[in-house]
Amino acid sequence: EYALYYAKQHSKAEPVFFSHEHERLIFANSAMEQALRHADLEKEMTVEFQPVLDLSAGHSRGVEALARWYSPQLGRVRPDLFIKAAENIGMIGHLTEVLFRKAVAEAVHWPADLILSFNLSAISLTSAGPVQRLLSIADRAGMPSHRLMFEITESAVMKDFDSAQEVLAVIRNAGCRIAIDDFGTGFSSLAYVHRLPIDTLKVDRSFIRDLTRNEKSANVLRSILGLCENLEMDCIIEGVETQEQFDLVTDLGGVYIQGYYYSKPLSAGDTHMVLQIEFENDVRDVPPARLAV
Ligand code: C2E
Ligand code: MG
Ligand code: MG
Ligand code: MG
Repeated sequence: EYALYYAKQHSKAEPVFFSHEHERLIFANSAMEQALRHADLEKEMTVEFQPVLDLSAGHSRGVEALARWYSPQLGRVRPDLFIKAAENIGMIGHLTEVLFRKAVAEAVHWPADLILSFNLSAISLTSAGPVQRLLSIADRAGMPSHRLMFEITESAVMKDFDSAQEVLAVIRNAGCRIAIDDFGTGFSSLAYVHRLPIDTLKVDRSFIRDLTRNEKSANVLRSILGLCENLEMDCIIEGVETQEQFDLVTDLGGVYIQGYYYSKPLSAGDTHMVLQIEFENDVRDVPPARLAV
């Protein structure tokens, strides 16, 4: 099945010869799909949380939920890989609900008004059902919808713009926020940004990686910050790792910052502790890196 898929992608009329690397990849993917099919999702799937710092408030503005899978057979598997595998085998809907329920169960205990941000895959945007099920999970858990943000990528929106537009309207009408994730890596068609109910752009970390090496990156980032200001959107700068990057980003006027500099993704317990500390002490005058567990 996988070999065929691979061949379809890569061939026109020519026969496809599989290299060892191809073979290895196909084997690894089917092993992962196999393990995922039989996984005990309740036990093997967990969620980590990465704070997003709000420099103007002096504490976290919200937290992004990030899926973690520990498979007894395979060990830790990267989320971008197992999310893709779950999409391939038609499990993404169920997996997303399990992850979301776990994330919300934590978020209801956090200090008031902190936003829980949750990644949606492209398939969740093809019809309203998946999102409606998430909204009722939140409702049952007592999670107010204004504290929820859904992250979607540009490519997910562009796959089927009309359906995505309808699903985003459902999210918005429920009172939740919407962020474009990895902004700048996809089609980056500025034409769609103002046609969709988007609150927040999350600038992809590739821009920040280049910031100290390439002068033009600073100009690009400045433009994106300007765009957000003009369209009254928040701008989260992703992937801030070093003091130098932090200084450059704040000089450019960045206010919302996510990255290893402030905090790596944390376990549920550590998240609770960090948020508690933040809300007891204003962290504006403390070097933020010191908060990281
Ligand atoms: P993303 O949504 O863009 O999440 C940010 C990723 O960047 C996370 O990787 C995070 O750990 C990493 N990161 C954060 N700060 C830094 C930094 O300063 N430097 C570096 N190098 N990396 C940083 P992670 O957890 O491996 O997740 C990868 C991707 O998997 C996510 O990218 C998202 O697209 C997907 N993903 C994760 N959880 C879920 C989920 O529950 N549902 C869906 N559909 N996708 C998910
Ligand atoms: Mg994200
Ligand atoms: Mg991202
Ligand atoms: Mg990403």
